[in-house]
Amino acid sequence: MTPVFDGHNDALLRLSKVQGDPVAVFRDGGPGHVDVPKARKGGLIGGFFALYSPTPNLPLDFKLFDTAPYDIPLPPALSRDEAAVPVAAQVAIAQALENEGLLRFIRQADEVDPAFDADTMAAVLHLEGAECIGPEGEGLDELFEAGLRSLGPVWSRPTAFAHGVPFRFPSDGDTGPGLTPEGRALIRACRDRQMVVDCSHMTLKGFHDVGEEGVALVATHSNACAVSNGARNLTDDQLRAVGQSGGMVGLNYATMFLRPDGGRDPHGALDHAVAHLAHMVEHAGEDHVGLGSDFDGAPMPAGLDSAADLPNLVALMEQAGFGQALISRICADNWRAFLKRTLA
Ligand code: ZN
Repeated sequence: MTPVFDGHNDALLRLSKVQGDPVAVFRDGGPGHVDVPKARKGGLIGGFFALYSPTPNLPLDFKLFDTAPYDIPLPPALSRDEAAVPVAAQVAIAQALENEGLLRFIRQADEVDPAFDADTMAAVLHLEGAECIGPEGEGLDELFEAGLRSLGPVWSRPTAFAHGVPFRFPSDGDTGPGLTPEGRALIRACRDRQMVVDCSHMTLKGFHDVGEEGVALVATHSNACAVSNGARNLTDDQLRAVGQSGGMVGLNYATMFLRPDGGRDPHGALDHAVAHLAHMVEHAGEDHVGLGSDFDGAPMPAGLDSAADLPNLVALMEQAGFGQALISRICADNWRAFLKRTLA
C-alpha cells in the first residue's frame, strides 16, 4: 500500500463536536473521514491537522454548491475572543491525542523523518484563519509553544490580516485585496519562526503579497482553475509561483473543487482528480505537488468516502500512467521534503 501524508484535514474540529471522549472516537473509529482504523486501512501515515473556528450560528451549507454559478457571500469577521474558544478546545484534543500515542506532532526538521517512518500517525498542527491572534501577533508564541507550525492568515472570511476568497464559481481568486500591514507583519513573524504559511482561502492578490515576504508559496488544499474554475483553486501563474518559490500545492478532494462544473454531485467527481494532479505537476513541477484532502471538512467524492479509500485514488494515478516514483512523491515524499527544508 502506498503511504499518504496529507496537507489538510479538519479532524480536530469534528472531534471537538462529538458526544463522549474524542480520544476514544479517534482511536476506535466511527463516522467521519479520519481516525486511526481508517488511516491504517488506507495507508494514511499523517497530515496537517487544522485548528478552525466556525462562524457562530452560520454553518457553511454545502447545498449552496449544488448548482453553479454561485457566489456565496463571505461571513462576517470573528472577534478574537469568539475564535479563541474553539481553537483552545481543539488544541486540547490534539494534545490528548499526542499523550495517548495516537498522533506524533512534528515541531522541527529533524523530527520529520522519524515521524513519517513511525507507526503512529505524524501530524503538523495548522491554524486555518488567524482570528484568534491579535493584530500585533499576540498569542502566536503561545500557539507555537503548543506545537503550531503552519498558519493560514484567512479562511474564506475577512480577518485583520487579509481577505479570504468567497466560494465563487466561475471565478479565479482575484476577488479582492491582499494582505493588510498587520498581515505582512504576521507573515514575517511566521517566516522568522520557520513556520509554513498557507495561502489556501486567500485572494490572488494576498497570495502574491505572501510571496513578496520571502516565504515559500503553499496552498495546502487547493486545485487547478484550468480544470475547475472556482475561486478556491489556483491559476497557472499561481501554480508556477508555487514551484518557483519551493512551495507546495495539495489536491483537495472536495467535490466542488474537483468537478469542472463546480457542482457538489459526488458521482464522477473523483474522475477529475488525476486531471488536476497532472495539470499541477505540469505547472508547479513534480517536486511541488501533494495531496490535501479536506477530510472532515468537505463533501467527498463517491469512491473516496474516507481515508480508508485512499488506495482508490492511488489506483487512478496508476491507471493514468503516473510512474511509481511520481506517485510516491505526490502521496508523501514531496510533503516530507518540503517540511524538512522549511521547519527549523
Ligand atoms: Zn479550508
